[in-house]
Amino acid sequence: MTDVRLSKKPRYQAKCYFDFRMPDGDMENSVESHTSHLVLCRKEHKCWNCGAGISKYDHALAEKGFLDGKPVNCWTCLDCVDDYMDMMNGEIDTDEMQARWEARYNANNRDDL
Ligand SMILES: [Zn+2]
Repeated sequence: MTDVRLSKKPRYQAKCYFDFRMPDGDMENSVESHTSHLVLCRKEHKCWNCGAGISKYDHALAEKGFLDGKPVNCWTCLDCVDDYMDMMNGEIDTDEMQARWEARYNANNRDDL
């Protein structure tokens, strides 16, 4: 399916991921009662950001909340979260983060072309 390897271990301490909010574009701040934390996935998910397959027992950032009164949730792979974390910490700039996200997205979605 894809030869993109996902990181298996978070690069930051677990507490850094608590209530961590990924940028959600035009949904900005519209998700109510937002919570997030690092989870060990009990089933397979897909990273909403890059499309990478997140396997059972992989770590991922789980975000939950309500949108228009309906429960919503999404999972983000560690690599996307850690790129964002690097940017927040000033290790890379926004362009570099976007470049990494795009490269991963393209690698994960090229089979669908
Ligand atoms: Zn991802």
